[in-house]
Amino acid sequence: MSKANESGCPGCGNGEIESAEPQHTVSRRRFLQGLGIGAGVVAAGVVPAVVSAIPQAAVAEEAARKSTGNESIDYIIEEDQPVNYPGKPVSYADPAGDQKWAMVIDVKACVGCRKCVYACVKENNIGRNSGFTYIQVLEMEPGTIDLEHSNLNYKEGGDPDKWYLPVQCMQCAKPTCVYGCPVIATWKEPDGIVVIDYDKCIACRNCIVTCPYGARHFNWVEPEVPKAEVNPKVPLEEKAGVVEKCTFCIQRTRNGGTTACTEACPVGARKFGDLNDPNSEVSILLKTRRVIRLKEEYGNEPMIWYVG
Ligand code: SF4
Ligand code: SF4
Repeated sequence: MSKANESGCPGCGNGEIESAEPQHTVSRRRFLQGLGIGAGVVAAGVVPAVVSAIPQAAVAEEAARKSTGNESIDYIIEEDQPVNYPGKPVSYADPAGDQKWAMVIDVKACVGCRKCVYACVKENNIGRNSGFTYIQVLEMEPGTIDLEHSNLNYKEGGDPDKWYLPVQCMQCAKPTCVYGCPVIATWKEPDGIVVIDYDKCIACRNCIVTCPYGARHFNWVEPEVPKAEVNPKVPLEEKAGVVEKCTFCIQRTRNGGTTACTEACPVGARKFGDLNDPNSEVSILLKTRRVIRLKEEYGNEPMIWYVG
């Protein structure tokens, strides 16, 4: 990762949603810690089909075996039960249906344009001054999975000579972030979406520590969003001084829509859908393609898979 990235902005640049680009200040150390650089991701062979040097890695083979096929999907669905669920709908979304939401990201298709990042910022009222984005896209050299030297602050639009790995909250079936909350301000819904009650959060930030993916973000400031761009369907003021995170766009997906990042991706690199539906795109991909998840060794059972 370049020195410029120590306070760099993965969502900054000259994208088409300029005002949705936050001033990003995620520290290099925290970002790398969150992804467990050097502690498993690289060793596990993150994207075996993309990085030709990696496919033979035994551990990647094992991870791929565990993540694919009917039996695995059944196992994941069985594991994916509500945790700390208060039994009432999230205030800004419809109640959960009988879906098990999941995402598959095709890293071979991803061109690193960051349109998913910008769409997410805009959809979810992420403060343009908050210093984080829910999605980050890592740029790497072809033939490598050297996350330590990956680039968050790469040039706008991406480079066809590099490859890209988008990361975000994995909506874990076993969400260690939820286990870490002392006041039950965060829980997993029956459809697998992990949410936070911003009014209950006491800002202890334990969940940030217990999330192995660096996917929870603390709002040190009152989040600012241009008035014309505020999404009335998503909280804004409530997020000041508490932790926030991706919710698979619960306000859209519970209403039959897809996530903003999926909709914005110009190359269809993101597939979002229901694992309870055997004919959904995500179910078919998991049954038929070689897939892998990040940091499987932590046992969180992430609900985002990578294919390439
Ligand atoms: Fe929680 Fe982190 Fe898993 Fe998201 S990635 S559900 S924040 S443990
Ligand atoms: Fe990759 Fe699609 Fe995101 Fe662009 S919008 S960075 S192609 S996942």
